[in-house]
Amino acid sequence: MKNEVKYKRSRQRERILALLRSTDLHPTAGWIYDQLKGEFKGLSLSTVYRNLSILLGQGLIARLEYGGTFGRFDGNVSPHYHFICEQCDAVLDLPLPVDLSLNKKVDAATGCQTKFYRLEFYGICDQCQG
Ligand code: ZN
Ligand code: MN
Repeated sequence: MKNEVKYKRSRQRERILALLRSTDLHPTAGWIYDQLKGEFKGLSLSTVYRNLSILLGQGLIARLEYGGTFGRFDGNVSPHYHFICEQCDAVLDLPLPVDLSLNKKVDAATGCQTKFYRLEFYGICDQCQG
């Protein structure tokens, strides 16, 4: 484990992680809060944010910063591409293999050492096209 900090096991955090892994909606913290507030008395949006940032630090979830005002969270941390609908803000996982040769091209062109890259496609999703 690269993360040295030990956190007390938290049932709330475990539920947040399970919820994120069970959906492909790439939800906001607000959506997560709405799903779980009935389950945990005294749950607050800031508790959700705190738990999300712990999960981020542990590398168990990813944060997506594009498309809209709010950060979106992804329970799938394996490399994959996204499509973002500019009309409804849907974030869709793309069923395409990740092109690892792009890393090598960047490394060859720059002398840098790529660890990973992200690729997003923007447009109108099939739902919004009617
Ligand atoms: Zn859409
Ligand atoms: Mn995703």
